Amino acid sequence: MARWFCQVNNHEELLEAAAFAKERSLHIFVLGLGTNLILGKHIDGLVIRNNIRGKTFSDSEVKAASGENWEELVGFCNYKGVPGLENLALIPGSVGAAPIQNIGAYGVELSDRLKTVETLNLITNEVVTFSNADCEFSYRDSRFKKEKEWFVTGVTISPRNELVFEYPDVKAYLEENELKESSKAIYRAVCAARVRKLPDFRRFPNVGSFFKNPIVTTEEYQRLKDRFPEMPKHIDPRGIKLSAAWLIDSLGLKGESVGGISISRQHALVLVNHSAATFDDLQKISKFIRKRVYSAYNVLLEVEPEVCPPQLSL
Ligand SMILES: Cc1cc2nc3c(=O)[nH]c(=O)nc-3n(C[C@H](O)[C@H](O)[C@H](O)COP(=O)(O)OP(=O)(O)OC[C@H]3O[C@@H](n4cnc5c(N)ncnc54)[C@H](O)[C@@H]3O)c2cc1C
Repeated sequence: MARWFCQVNNHEELLEAAAFAKERSLHIFVLGLGTNLILGKHIDGLVIRNNIRGKTFSDSEVKAASGENWEELVGFCNYKGVPGLENLALIPGSVGAAPIQNIGAYGVELSDRLKTVETLNLITNEVVTFSNADCEFSYRDSRFKKEKEWFVTGVTISPRNELVFEYPDVKAYLEENELKESSKAIYRAVCAARVRKLPDFRRFPNVGSFFKNPIVTTEEYQRLKDRFPEMPKHIDPRGIKLSAAWLIDSLGLKGESVGGISISRQHALVLVNHSAATFDDLQKISKFIRKRVYSAYNVLLEVEPEVCPPQLSL
């Protein structure tokens, strides 16, 4: 429950909402589609639900307002033959939230495709456009995660012809269906893999990956590999990326549950809320998984979704 709530449909309404909060010294919380949030308790402030719509396309760029739906934008670009976003298909949420945690999947991150992020500063009302470099993107992170005063109003994306299809699921789909690598074929492959692997969050409430894939040094990875030769890895500019799903799955934890929350049998990184479980249940199962993975592999898992209010932890 929030103390105050409003929905904004354009910049004027956003400025009005910001002024309302300022007059009453209210803390502002920006809400997109809520797919990456865990609410712990009452939000004592103003929740601004973003519904600023609009998008334009040209050969050189795609511009989308932050209240647009990300899945729909990617689907539309693909349909229109605008390449570059196909690996990010079916990631739920709003366009405005995409740069916050630098969404990524199947070998591509938003930061690989993004040109600029347009924002409004909720404290000063300043309108600022951040270049890609200014956003300080890294794995599931950006400056906006820490600097909460920036309301993302829109993003500009550069279409890219560079195709990324090295992930086994994508490769296998292309081979099985005798498809030549193309933006449209990769889009189909990614959609098929996601539908097959992830429980539908509309029917089985979940926030997608509950933990980030840990990134370790080459030396750490080598030590792990010596003990667990079958441990998969992905090369990443920041080190060696381990599969958090594999770490959990290898300990036989799929299907384990605490209260009404269970580790999905379909995907070890997904925690499903079956019966409106409490925040305490989530905390218990999160700690249980982290402890088991740490004792077995000496790797600390980090929670991916945002917890609100931030003083609560999982
Ligand atoms: C089934 C499932 C699968 C998923 N798969 C992936 C995946 O493959 N890769 C991946 O990276 N993520 C994935 N996610 C996570 C999620 O889809 C993304 O994080 C998405 O960007 C969240 O969008 P949202 O609009 O729901 O954001 P919300 O949950 O509403 O908000 C998330 C954060 O962004 C902030 N925010 C939202 N809008 C704005 C704005 N306009 N300006 C400033 N701050 C804002 C919020 O304050 C909050 O801090 C998945 C989630 C689910 C449920």
